[in-house]
Amino acid sequence: MTALNILKYPDPLLKERCEELTEIDGRITAFIRDLVDTMRASPGVGLAAPQIGTLLRIIAVDVTPRHPGMGLVVLINPRIQSYGGGKTVREGCLSIPDYTANITRAATVTVKGVDPEGTEVELCSTGFEAVVFQHEIDHLDGVLFLDRIANVKIDLFRRKIKEL
Ligand SMILES: [Zn+2]
Repeated sequence: MTALNILKYPDPLLKERCEELTEIDGRITAFIRDLVDTMRASPGVGLAAPQIGTLLRIIAVDVTPRHPGMGLVVLINPRIQSYGGGKTVREGCLSIPDYTANITRAATVTVKGVDPEGTEVELCSTGFEAVVFQHEIDHLDGVLFLDRIANVKIDLFRRKIKEL
């Protein structure tokens, strides 16, 4: 098990656009293990490759420790095919540990991507899990929740204590 260091804002790598993968080789499989191990070792429910310094389009999501969801999902080259509804949720980010913010996102998303075995998958997600997919896919385009705050004075909150 290898839990890697999570980059913190304002690390410039968090603002980069990540590259699509063209093949899944042993190096990628090992990287995915590290990505999942790092997520599991943290208090987060999702992690994107750039957060551990690798500019590739890979995300890991598992909200089930705290919310209903489909368990561990690892997606390569994920893209959102459709959005439905709207929902405002208090979001945090392992790369921005001192703040949370109210962010409005779609309530339902359909996400397409490739799983670690190389199979094309399409997933429909709702509720908190759908928000996490949108948050993690944003990381692949160098977008942080800070970039999506409607009104910094109203919607941004400094964490008072370390919430685990
Ligand atoms: Zn994040």
